[in-house]
Amino acid sequence: MKNGFENPIYVTKPLLPELEKINSRLEKIWKTGMLTNMGEQHRELEEKLSQYLACENITLFNNGTIALMAGLKALDLKGEVITTPFTFPATVQALEWNGLKPVFCDIDPVSMTMDAGKIEDLINENTSAILGVHVFDNICDVRKIDEISKKYNLKIVYDAAHSFGSIYEGVPVWEFGDMSMFSFHATKLFNTIEGGCIISKDAGITERLELMKSFGRDKDGKVADWGINGKLNEFQAAMGIEVLKLVAGEKEKRIGLAKIYNAILGDIEGIRVVTEACRSRSCQYLVVEIDEEKFGKSRDMVFEALNSSNVFPRKYFHPLCSDTDWYRMDYSNKELKHAQSASERVLALPFYGGLSEENVEKICNIILNC
Ligand SMILES: *Cc1c(COP(=O)(O)O)cnc(C)c1O
Repeated sequence: MKNGFENPIYVTKPLLPELEKINSRLEKIWKTGMLTNMGEQHRELEEKLSQYLACENITLFNNGTIALMAGLKALDLKGEVITTPFTFPATVQALEWNGLKPVFCDIDPVSMTMDAGKIEDLINENTSAILGVHVFDNICDVRKIDEISKKYNLKIVYDAAHSFGSIYEGVPVWEFGDMSMFSFHATKLFNTIEGGCIISKDAGITERLELMKSFGRDKDGKVADWGINGKLNEFQAAMGIEVLKLVAGEKEKRIGLAKIYNAILGDIEGIRVVTEACRSRSCQYLVVEIDEEKFGKSRDMVFEALNSSNVFPRKYFHPLCSDTDWYRMDYSNKELKHAQSASERVLALPFYGGLSEENVEKICNIILNC
């Protein structure tokens, strides 16, 4: 393939520990005969994550979506929740499974997170919470959202699926709002194959979530709360313990690759690198925004050119949640022009430690010459 890659290059590659490390943990699991229900591996992962994230009130779940669903449930919300259409469908689905109505707020065109200046217009007597998403680890306007929530007595939940371990203004990102969800899906920086957690500011909520994720049953086996099966199993936990050891090294490599992307694409007219890569951030994605008028080629043209060179970037997030048939009828809102525009312009480029610097240069050149 002229100019292209012989083997396909995808947007990410999950962190995989050495197989022997996993095998020795599997041997431990075999010895205990305990495959799930919060065994030794689960306890160890919970402890390691509490240290890594500098938090106390953490509840592990079998995936981030169930974590968010349960987290919202534990806040006893009602009516409407203000959120962003520029996100992965799971954010909105977690609301819907709770019988809550998503009300879409437009985004800020630079950070691509919810435009906090537009929230107040969407608040009415049915509003119970704000569900922000730290899109591509660009942190929401947490100060403004905090002010608004105090003024109207609203809860704040953050979908922090893109922000594992991020520090913002010197503070762990989960400290903002009432609770935050991290996803441990295979495509995220840190993975347990599938998995996730809620970190809450309130120990009472964490206590509830521990019951809720295991059928709502208390220690006597009596159903005492809302219940679901949200347990992270021992295999997932074993994977997580070993993957967590690789996260710091992976981030260093990604920071190096981001420098190359920035050096080649950063000053090109019509291309903007939307994401920031440094030690205090998750380095989960490398996203560019392409302005067709200035660059001369549209995002979709760049996407096609990369595909035909065997490179498979992702259009995160396209289509917008508010634009799919499933949501359009109920939640259409004409005032989403920045979300609309972002969804037509963004492209998540290949970004993982195993990618070579030469390949990053080659990918950039395909973009520039398409
Ligand atoms: C990945 C992701 C989720 C869902 O997490 P899972 O662990 O895959 O269930 C939710 N929200 C956002 C923004 C995500 O990127």
